[in-house]
Amino acid sequence: MNIHEYQGKQVLAKYGVAVLKGGVAYTPDEAIQVAKDLGGPVWVVKSQIHAGGRGKGSFKGDTSGKGGVRVVKSVEEVGAAADAMLGKVLVTVQTGEQGKEVKRIYVEQGCDIRRELYLGLLIDRSTSRVTIMASTEGGMEIEEVAHKSPEKILKVAIDPVQGFQQYHGRQLAFGLGLTGKQVGAAVKFMGALYKAFMDLDCSIVEINPLVVTGDDQLIALDAKVNFDDNALFRHKDIEEMRDESEEDPAELEAARHSLNYIKLDGSIGCMVNGAGLAMATMDIIKLYGASPANFLDVGGGATKERVTTAFKLILSDPNVEGILVNIFGGIMRCDVIAEGVVAAAREVSLNVPLVVRLEGTNVELGKKIMAQSGLPIIAADNLADAAEKVVKAVKEAA
Ligand code: ADP
Ligand code: MG
Repeated sequence: MNIHEYQGKQVLAKYGVAVLKGGVAYTPDEAIQVAKDLGGPVWVVKSQIHAGGRGKGSFKGDTSGKGGVRVVKSVEEVGAAADAMLGKVLVTVQTGEQGKEVKRIYVEQGCDIRRELYLGLLIDRSTSRVTIMASTEGGMEIEEVAHKSPEKILKVAIDPVQGFQQYHGRQLAFGLGLTGKQVGAAVKFMGALYKAFMDLDCSIVEINPLVVTGDDQLIALDAKVNFDDNALFRHKDIEEMRDESEEDPAELEAARHSLNYIKLDGSIGCMVNGAGLAMATMDIIKLYGASPANFLDVGGGATKERVTTAFKLILSDPNVEGILVNIFGGIMRCDVIAEGVVAAAREVSLNVPLVVRLEGTNVELGKKIMAQSGLPIIAADNLADAAEKVVKAVKEAA
């Protein structure tokens, strides 16, 4: 789960991470009030969306050249910036070209920036450890730094038994070229971040930029905090920060029906039972020259209702040009699945080619039900046959 920058800062501040004062606003009037309460002389008005790159982003239909993060010098300008952002669609490198509507903004104190650094904590699967990444190239997309100058990224993997130690912090601080009292501030900052990461079951905590101020303080100017969904049950207060309007509507709907759905960029909708089979199905679609439109695991006990919901989800994606159903009837019987598929295809008035591959218990009966349904369902005998048929059918339909 993802939260907004201002929420991330609130959470991290409780652990002693240094942040600036600020307040959230939903209207220009609220923004002005926050600005007055903060006092000047400089404020920063920041669009709150679940995506980065806001500073360099631009608003649809706005030719001023101003981005989603604006430094202003009067309360009136705070109001004007808020007005220019709220209700508008911000497009950044991370939102995709459709952008995201700004529904709330954060008004923050301005900061005297001397250096912009990068600091990130994540779970490195290759070492199975929480890893702290740091770079002198703050303010830039870290993916770009990793691509162009990987030597500029410092990494320290933390032993989970030992936890974060001062020497980890000093090693990174020296690597970042920090000196004097900045070093102690950095060690404290990283220790606080590590504690927050572990306590709250985070999957990513990224501070970009972490700034060094004119008076040698280290402050988090941005905060991206992601949580492990599987651990949210023990963090009710975090779960309350969820902003569903920022999430993919199809993925939300899927979660409500306990369907494991992840939207992808391709054109072949997939409905599969079991995560492993779903992965294999996506691979084989690629092998036959097309791309999956989604990952979808309907689970072991798929009922007619779930199959129907799954179909609707797949079809709600305008990129879907064909559907591949790949079900292994183990605990489930193939005839039950076939009835579900037929009912769902009728209910949603299917308008793209549908290829179904069934295998397992009662498979013959299942195939018979589909063949007798009168629906244009293309039956397949095995995984390769199914992938080949759906790719071919989509090409022919186009
Ligand atoms: P994003 O990463 O989405 O572009 P940031 O929060 O990192 O958004 O802001 C972009 C840039 O704006 C920062 O790199 C920093 O230079 C500047 N900035 C952000 N907040 C402040 C602030 N409170 N005071 C001064 N400059 C700021
Ligand atoms: Mg940033």
